[in-house]
Amino acid sequence: AASGGPTSIRQVKLDKECELRVEVADAPFRLRLLNGSAEIFGTEIPPEIWLSFPPRLKFAVFTWYGATIEMEGNTETDYTADETPMISYVNVHAVLEGRRNRAKASPPDSDASQGPRVIVVGPTDSGKSTLSRMLLSWAAKQGWKPTFVDLDIGQGSITIPGCIAATPIEMPIDPVEGIPLEMPLVYFHGHPTPSANVDLYKVLVKELAQTLEKQFSGNPESRAAGMVINTMGWIEGVGYELLLHAIDAFGATVVLVLGQEKLCSMLKDVLKSKPNVDVVKLQKSGGVVSRNPKVRQKARGLRIREYFYGLTNDLSPHSNIANFSDLSIFRIGGGPQAPRSALPIGAEPAADPTRLVPVNINRDLLHLVLAVSYAKEPDQIISSNVAGFIYITDIDIQRKKITYLAPCAGELPGKFLIVGSLTWVET
Ligand code: ADP
Repeated sequence: AASGGPTSIRQVKLDKECELRVEVADAPFRLRLLNGSAEIFGTEIPPEIWLSFPPRLKFAVFTWYGATIEMEGNTETDYTADETPMISYVNVHAVLEGRRNRAKASPPDSDASQGPRVIVVGPTDSGKSTLSRMLLSWAAKQGWKPTFVDLDIGQGSITIPGCIAATPIEMPIDPVEGIPLEMPLVYFHGHPTPSANVDLYKVLVKELAQTLEKQFSGNPESRAAGMVINTMGWIEGVGYELLLHAIDAFGATVVLVLGQEKLCSMLKDVLKSKPNVDVVKLQKSGGVVSRNPKVRQKARGLRIREYFYGLTNDLSPHSNIANFSDLSIFRIGGGPQAPRSALPIGAEPAADPTRLVPVNINRDLLHLVLAVSYAKEPDQIISSNVAGFIYITDIDIQRKKITYLAPCAGELPGKFLIVGSLTWVET
């Protein structure tokens, strides 16, 4: 129920193992922990301190032993729930913890020194990102530095849409700020859905997995901590194939299936030949909020905005001007490709989906978001991760100048840029 005026302060008493579910309205909202202990998606909240939440954020304050929360501001809804799947989630955490400890105690170069590689799968809005977050924060709280891998190119939580990415989680994830953006490992697909170029998506997943494998081999600590992999909500047809591909590419040892019997039994069936892979069905939380395609689209725009301007406008991006000749822009694959499912049986898509196509600079690039590759040579572009992104704001054909927004001033960290279909309209 919506509350009264924006200054109304309310208190909520939460019994043990209950949660307060909040959907923030369009105005500021804050809360604090008055007594007891509570956490937001796996991260403990500090006592007494007011925490401010951005408009439209949806979250829950959960308590294991009981707590009193004070809140101020308007909400779309806020209610208390006494039925949650948290016990089953924390039980999974305990099992993972045991495996991490065993990995740590094993000889550094043995197979046994590899901690759990968890992949979270399920339909859209089943709470995958939220569960990934809890598992990571609980592990970080106990001193591990697990690697978070986000394969959801539509609504990823590490960087902008259109990418897959990985980053070590060294501290419980901040309930407001999210994943810190310090130097994640990012590969750019360039489209908000893999269906625009399925083969490229697979290539990038493989690249990311191989790069992490190399990093793990020199780092027993992160190897033992293992990883948590979040996936897309696309679980039918090609989406299902991509899940299997990801499970294989990352050598997942634990598959957590949220809220779908059918997917779970399909995965159990295909993975039964692999005795070292556990498939576990978990209940979806009743608190998970569905987002329609429009809301998702909007969230993508906000993510891009956040990349340049920060969550609270705390960053100041720079408008830079370059000559056409300073930049070389490439597209991967010959234009948007028909999905295989749209082709006659047996037919192969005509264009090579991983072909590098040089792009002429013209006004078609306006309002597109481009990635800056770390590649030193064009033939390394597909296998290279990206340094960051720019946003094209003006193209002057006559003077051959391109104006773009970048997170900072000065020269770009590479001269090869990748363009896909990712657009953004600055608002
Ligand atoms: P998925 O990754 O499967 O698409 P998310 O984990 O992103 O789903 O959850 C969808 C939305 O529901 C998010 O906005 C998330 O913050 C919210 N949410 C998840 N669990 C809860 C909960 N227990 N209470 C309130 N909101 C929740």
